[in-house]
Amino acid sequence: MIIVMSPEHTDSDVERVVERLGERGYGHHISRGEERTIIGAIGAPDHEKEVVAGQLSVLPGVERVVPILKPYKLISREHNPRPGTVKLGEAKFGAGQVSVIAGPCSVESQEQVLQTARAVKEAGAGVLRGGAYKPRTSPYSFQGLGREGLEFLAGAREETGLPFVTEVMDVRQVELVAETADCLQIGARNMQNYDLLKEAGACGRPVMLKRGLSSTIQEWLEAAEYIAAAGCLDIILCERGIRTFETATRFTLDLSAVAVARRETFLPIVADPSHAVGMSSLVTPMALAAVAAGVDGLMIEVHPRPDTALSDGPQSLTPTAFKELMPQLRAVAEAVGTQM
Ligand code: PEP
Ligand code: MN
Repeated sequence: MIIVMSPEHTDSDVERVVERLGERGYGHHISRGEERTIIGAIGAPDHEKEVVAGQLSVLPGVERVVPILKPYKLISREHNPRPGTVKLGEAKFGAGQVSVIAGPCSVESQEQVLQTARAVKEAGAGVLRGGAYKPRTSPYSFQGLGREGLEFLAGAREETGLPFVTEVMDVRQVELVAETADCLQIGARNMQNYDLLKEAGACGRPVMLKRGLSSTIQEWLEAAEYIAAAGCLDIILCERGIRTFETATRFTLDLSAVAVARRETFLPIVADPSHAVGMSSLVTPMALAAVAAGVDGLMIEVHPRPDTALSDGPQSLTPTAFKELMPQLRAVAEAVGTQM
């Protein structure tokens, strides 16, 4: 970190900072310019940096403390430049391979999941999705089938061979979900549920981490770092739209976050246009745009009868619309040098 002294600082202010750094095991390097003095702090344990930076920032004569290293390490390109891939069954996310996760918002019945799984598989999806535990805004909305929903997803996997991703909302669900699911989804509303991130990171399954609806890219990446620090590097990041002032769509799909996350981390990044736009007519253009922006995958809600869906019907594609979308996605993928 670098400590920038204020223009009015005194020599004893500098001495105090240097003394503090010494006490915490840092070396230092003082650079005195015409107008400013800056002190470089050298070499100390990572886990102490944030707290030491906070303490130094309130010393007399200190204007600000600037961290040099990113607050995430295990998932950063700096730390590990290899292009990461995460495999779910046969589906590969990353290193130029784009895979599609598709399925209903909520698991509603064995028949509904089976029908959707067959249709999305035939159209070329590599992974099935479906919520058994649903984070609903209203306590009176359908809350998901829970354990039974997981069984229906497993049944669909058995028949179609598609692996599935499903959400865990609470640490108490992790063990059960990890027993059957191929990948645990942490939903937008739980992105900063740190105990859940730790538990999911330690469960031995890949984790898909959705970006919080009002979270910065840095907060999203720091949340992913929690999962990595708990032992899991098979993490897929999912941009699913953020809150903005715009009301024409449900959220605003932040495709620049895909490019920024790509720069910062080797983890594969997928986009979920369904939850971002909130209406089926806008899913296709935004899915195409996401592939053009270089995502490693997409998550798309598909329901055999959106007009009967218990959640997110308005944004769900019919199997027919999904089937029409897939070749368009492939064409864009090819144009930008990725494979689908
Ligand atoms: C979902 O994918 O089922 C979901 C609830 O999405 P989000 O957490 O992005 O709102
Ligand atoms: Mn949904």
